[in-house]
Amino acid sequence: MKNIRDYTLEELENELLSLGEKKFRAKQIFAWIYRGVTSFEEMTDLSKDLIEKLKQNYIIDCIFLDNFQKSKDGTIKYLFKLTDEHKIESVLMKYKYGYTACVSNQIGCKMGCNFCASAKIGFVRNLTPGEIVGQILKMEEQSGEKISNVVFMGIGEPFDNYENVMKAVRLINDPKGLNIGARHISISTCGLVDGIERFSNENIQCNLCISLHSSRDEVRSDMMPINKKYNIAEVIDACKKYIDKTNRRITFEYALVDGVNDSKEDALHLAKLLHGMLCHVNLIPVNKIKDGKYEKSSVEKMMAFRDLLNDKGIVATIRRELGSDISAACGQLVRDEKSRLN
Ligand code: SAH
Repeated sequence: MKNIRDYTLEELENELLSLGEKKFRAKQIFAWIYRGVTSFEEMTDLSKDLIEKLKQNYIIDCIFLDNFQKSKDGTIKYLFKLTDEHKIESVLMKYKYGYTACVSNQIGCKMGCNFCASAKIGFVRNLTPGEIVGQILKMEEQSGEKISNVVFMGIGEPFDNYENVMKAVRLINDPKGLNIGARHISISTCGLVDGIERFSNENIQCNLCISLHSSRDEVRSDMMPINKKYNIAEVIDACKKYIDKTNRRITFEYALVDGVNDSKEDALHLAKLLHGMLCHVNLIPVNKIKDGKYEKSSVEKMMAFRDLLNDKGIVATIRRELGSDISAACGQLVRDEKSRLN
């Protein structure tokens, strides 16, 4: 059955017309969806006939709470079940300025980064726009909080599910939809150059984050197989074109791994690579995953790495870890649950 949350307002208008209904009904239905209702019966300004018709043609609630865990720091990790019984995870983080939702965009991931737990769960399918937006609606329903920021940093590679992710972004951003400002939405990619190029032409002010993790091809190819398809020079070139076109700052994510990418030389090499770019480096202590070979760098090494970058004129900060006591930190999604089930 079709999911009514998959449509933009314009598409919903066409759906209503094809059901023989008036176009303006779409506006009413769209408003109810983003007020968070989970059944058509709650749409009290629609006739019984129309509600019946909608029920025969569409589902509305497509995402169900399976489990959740709350961290000492207030972070909540949700395990959601989809209509086909597959599971995904989303995380709700509390910051001074509000609540940030970290959403998944695929069931599993094809990219195979060797430090990431999502790579180990195997790819099943893309999520639909409604399933992406549904994670946010469900987290708001469950927590009673209004979400003000969204990051595409859960399971999956956003630019490997480009259309559905962009449609979800439009629904999240639409003033009649979730009404979250584009500048409060971040998309993180492992560096799919075709996606970066396409994204440069979207004319939307979302933040683009690139998972770089090393400035040396040998090291990056070992950590991230995608580097064999699109190497560092190609990724950086696409980023420079993006910046020229949009005048927007890029965030480079760099997971610091003890003895792999965290030396002084690595910091200087990275500073040289990013020299003159409108960018920011987000240093993340790598999170050890089950059977993972990587260990976090020491706090001293992380601070030294950050200071070296800053000295060279590259703005760098160390990302605070949230939810690490409940495996909600980077790269640990779903896999725990799988191993519990196995
Ligand atoms: N596919 C997207 C989104 C992935 S998750 C991407 O590659 O960017 C968001 C971020 O978490 C990415 O930068 C990813 O490289 C990082 N990440 C994944 N596993 C991690 C781990 N174990 N420790 C630290 N960061 C990790």
